[in-house]
Amino acid sequence: MTAMHVDSHCIFCKIVAGHIPSRKAYEDDEFLVFHDIAPWAPVHLLVIPKTHIASLAETDPAEHAAMLGRMLALAPRLAKENGADNGFRTVINTGSDGGQEVYHLHMHVIGGPRPWAKG
Ligand code: 5GP
Ligand code: ZN
Repeated sequence: MTAMHVDSHCIFCKIVAGHIPSRKAYEDDEFLVFHDIAPWAPVHLLVIPKTHIASLAETDPAEHAAMLGRMLALAPRLAKENGADNGFRTVINTGSDGGQEVYHLHMHVIGGPRPWAKG
């Protein structure tokens, strides 16, 4: 694994470090998955690399393509394990026009029976 980056002001780095609590759904060496604090739907998970990368716009294909592939590849398993049996949505908001609020790369995995609160 490449060097781990931490941003001391980043809320998701604080979650990775355990300084802010979260409801964890999955963890391995590379990723942490936890439940969104303001869920849109019965299942709303955030998948984050443990290393600090501000956004998808900051990724470099040569360095990050494999990690991004592994991140996306986690989604079906997470959806299934958390009860999103009938489909799910994967979303990565990027930058201000993309509606990104937290500048630590994350993928939303949203699903579960409708109606949803949003989306
Ligand atoms: P973005 O708009 O950046 O794609 O999404 C950020 C998401 O992070 C939002 O859905 C928001 O509810 C969630 N979020 C923000 N702060 C926290 C937190 O401290 N804990 C958890 N579990 N989710 C958070
Ligand atoms: Zn961070």
